[in-house]
Formats: sequence, C-alpha cells, structure tokens
Amino acid sequence: MTTPVDAAGAAEVLARHREVTVLCHVRPDADALGSSCGLARALRAVGVTVHHSFDPGVVPAALRGIPGTDRVVPLAQVPAHAGLVVTLDCASPDRVGAWERLAETASEVLVVDHHGSNPGFGSHLYLDPAAASTATLVLEMLEAGGYIVDTEIATSLYAGLVTDTGSFRWGGGPAHDTARRLLAAGAETEQLSHDLLDAHSFAWLRVLGELLTRVRLEADAVGGRGAVWLAVPHEVIAAADEDDVESLVSHLRGVREARVAVLLKEYLPGEWAVSLRSRGGNGGRGLVDVSAVAAALGGGGHPAAAGCTVRGDLEDVTARLRELLG
Ligand code: AMP
Ligand code: MN
Ligand code: MN
Repeated sequence: MTTPVDAAGAAEVLARHREVTVLCHVRPDADALGSSCGLARALRAVGVTVHHSFDPGVVPAALRGIPGTDRVVPLAQVPAHAGLVVTLDCASPDRVGAWERLAETASEVLVVDHHGSNPGFGSHLYLDPAAASTATLVLEMLEAGGYIVDTEIATSLYAGLVTDTGSFRWGGGPAHDTARRLLAAGAETEQLSHDLLDAHSFAWLRVLGELLTRVRLEADAVGGRGAVWLAVPHEVIAAADEDDVESLVSHLRGVREARVAVLLKEYLPGEWAVSLRSRGGNGGRGLVDVSAVAAALGGGGHPAAAGCTVRGDLEDVTARLRELLG
C-alpha cells in the first residue's frame, strides 16, 4: 500500500532513518542527478549514512559539474539494508532500473516525483505534477524538515530546476520563486548553466550538421498540427556523447510548422528511446498530450514532454507512434 504524503510528511519519513539509499532514474538528466545530490548532501550533513546511486551508476561527463555527482556509486555496490530507499524523478518502478533487491530489503520506500503519469509506488508517495522539477520538491521537503540548504545543495537543486523549466521558459511564478530561494541560499548558476545548457565538443557540431539534414517535417500530421521526426541510429549514437544526443530534441521543438516533435534514439541496437515534445497554440490550446502516447507504449512523462522505450525496427516503431499521435 502506498500512502500519499506532502512535503512535511515526506520530511517525517526521512527523519525516521539513519541509513538511506538515494536513487534516481536510469539515463539520468540534471533533475534526476541534481535533486538526488541535493538530498544526499542534506542527509549526510545530519549524520545519516547515504548511498547515492542510479542504475548502473556512471555519471555522464556533461553532468559532472553538478555538485555531489562525485559521490555517486555504482548500483551494484549499494548494500541492501533495512533503512529507507528514496527514488527521485522516477515516473514508474522500472525507471529506477534493477533496484528490486534494495526495495525488498528496505523498511520504507519514499517516492518523490513530479510526473503526472506516475501510477504511485513505494510505501510513501510525494507526488506533485504541478511542480516544475523534482528538485523543487526536494527543496520543499528540506525546508519542511528544517535541513540546512547550503551553497552546494542549492546549486545541485538549481541544476534540476533550470533544465526542467527549459531555462524558465515554463514553470511560471512558482519556478521563479523556487529559483529565488535557491539563489538566496547561495546557488552558483553561471558556470553550471553553461555546462548544462550550452557546452558541447567541437566534433559534435559536425555530427549535428549531418543529423539535422535527416529531420523530416510532416506538416499535415497529428490532425494538421504538424510533426517533425528525427531518428538517430545506433552507429551514430555509439560515437557521440549521450548528453549531446539528448539535446537534439530542443532543435526539433523549435520548428514553427510542427506542434509535435519526435526524437528516436537507438541507444541499444533495435531498442529506441523515444522523446516526445508538444506545443499548444496561444494559451496552450490544442496541446497534444504526448504523455498519453508515451504511456500507451509503456512510458510516461508530462503532457508537453514525455518518453518511452520501444523495441523493433524503425519502420514499425514509427508506424506505432504515428497511429497513436493521430
Ligand atoms: P526525455 O524525452 O527523455 O527528456 O523525457 C521527457 C519526460 O518524460 C521526462 O520528464 C522523463 O522523465 C519522462 N520519461 C521519459 N521516458 C520515460 C519512461 N520510459 N517512463 C516514464 N517517463 C518517462
Ligand atoms: Mn528526469
Ligand atoms: Mn524532472
């Protein structure tokens, strides 16, 4: 049974434990790592033994600027214990990867997330789909529990906030208010924002140029809203930085002629990680809920940004997506 909790309730769960495993989702982004780094450091500061990990546990180079990522350990090295497991930014149990042995041994599992598609799991669920980032929820939890938010914690949490809000393009007043509190706590933002949002290798520009020639526009797709598609085959992915590949979707979502963007990434041969993005008209009208499409394929996310992983050849995967997008 899963008990829903608010920030104060989540802080009460944290306060019950002296040993805590902090996990975020596979193929972590800055919100997954930033929120988990912030929580791990706050717990260590009050003497809690913390195991900070994800499956499998190698931090992508582009995210190593987030304070605390140097203390991430491989999942295989995390001991099973009877304390608490916290999952951050994980919309479903399978997004945590192969963590069953840890969940089974733990006395409590606290799930902290902001994906509306989250079906609810763990013993306690702190879920707020209105929150701009999971890092926002960690800040709420730390403030409710009276934890000290130092410069490093604030910087880690800011990493999640600035990326999940598309540099504050969405998230509105509440996201700016969270930023204000993190800045007041000493968050260092300039180098971090460059590292997370702008930095890439020179070599990537050539790959990017070649990939952009492959983007397809279907102006009449999705009931006349238009869609752009790009598939990145395994041989290209194998030679590129994961973070650079992930950044491709931002080029697609800017195309004026399309309200829906689909990026297919073949990280493993025959297995496509799909990123879906959607944009409404004025005031968000006519937004296609891509989280419903992702959920139909076993994934999830937010109405305007969602993802799933589908096995099969590219033609089949594309046909299934096309049918679901309508
Ligand atoms: P991405 O396209 O990978 O950046 O993901 C967009 C949003 O969908 C993020 O909030 C992800 O956490 C979420 N998401 C991506 N893949 C999945 C999945 N397989 N299951 C649930 N949520 C997902
Ligand atoms: Mn995430
Ligand atoms: Mn997030």
